[in-house]
Amino acid sequence: MRDDAEFPTEDRSPTTREETGDRDPASGQTRPPRREFKARGSFVERCEGCRLPVLNCLCPYRVSATSEARVWLLTHPLEHNKPTNTGRLIADVLPQSETFTWYRTAPDERLLALLADRRFVPFVIFPDDQPDYQHRVVDERAVVSAKQDGFIPVFILIDGTWRQARRIFRKSPYLEALPVLPLHTDRLTRYRLRKPASASHLCTAEVAAELLRNTGDTDAANVLDDYFDAFNESYAASRIYHKLEKPTAPMKRLLDRRLSGSAHARLLGEE
Ligand SMILES: [Zn+2]
Repeated sequence: MRDDAEFPTEDRSPTTREETGDRDPASGQTRPPRREFKARGSFVERCEGCRLPVLNCLCPYRVSATSEARVWLLTHPLEHNKPTNTGRLIADVLPQSETFTWYRTAPDERLLALLADRRFVPFVIFPDDQPDYQHRVVDERAVVSAKQDGFIPVFILIDGTWRQARRIFRKSPYLEALPVLPLHTDRLTRYRLRKPASASHLCTAEVAAELLRNTGDTDAANVLDDYFDAFNESYAASRIYHKLEKPTAPMKRLLDRRLSGSAHARLLGEE
């Protein structure tokens, strides 16, 4: 969740657009918000793999990692098709991640089934700044002890603007019984593709990386951070039509990981 300078019209039409999404009548797919696409990027040639402008494609840097904790994204319909969305980076790096589209009146059946699965201990990631749910607030120790007890901790990340996130948090009965885990960090955002109201408001991929790091999944956190930095650099450079000639330090680490991963796979006879 975060502030989002790319939604100038949102406050004026909260019910129509937010409730229904903006659907393509032919395919039934949710459309990206019209204003954003017309304002920026609609004529850019994009890679089909990573959806970044082809000028600086992210695909060569895509690597996977494993983590003890999992991430489930609860994504606002207006967020899904935005190429600047960082929630999708989490699923690229951590293949066991789940992504659900949030509709107020129609909760995702698969999400409900997973919430009922006793193997998982889900936490809603949300700020602890309102008095009415203080009894549900926990800290990272709860995640660590879930692991110690043999369960799989799950970070439920609400992916949308702050305003959308608050709405999802308040209007989803299946989240009401879950512990609330706020992220407390000194980290300032490095996200360059949208303008945050405050540098302390992290984007979705950054929130996931910090949570993973704070709860012991250091390798996954580092890979996700590098992949996020590669995404951020590549996308920002493409916006000013600049081709990155050399990989940045995070990109180099990702390339090395890919190389050592495929060498390892060959050793195991998997290739
Ligand atoms: Zn690509």
